[in-house]
Amino acid sequence: MSDTGMRDMAELLRSGARMLSRSCPECGSPLFQLKSGEIWCAKCQRRVVIVAEGEEVTTEAGIQLESLERTIVSKLSSMETLLTQENDLEKLKNVADVLDKLLATLERLRRIRKG
Ligand SMILES: [Zn+2]
Repeated sequence: MSDTGMRDMAELLRSGARMLSRSCPECGSPLFQLKSGEIWCAKCQRRVVIVAEGEEVTTEAGIQLESLERTIVSKLSSMETLLTQENDLEKLKNVADVLDKLLATLERLRRIRKG
């Protein structure tokens, strides 16, 4: 662990933060609960969101990616309706193009989330 991390942890404790039994999903450092109630990783220098009691902790970035993934999946299913209804070849080509890009983005997102 870096010196900076150690010093930040000491400062957090001094400021009244509580060390939790959970550890950061990103770096494995112990997490702190600030007086404001926020969960903080001193090493990553960022806020960590605990999804639900007893469940895995996820970083805010992870949650955003998950919601982005859900949005893309729902777009993909509305694209399917478009594909079914559209008979104009030129328009179909556009739809296929967008589909292609959405699928590529989805694949990349899933790769990032898996780490
Ligand atoms: Zn961390």
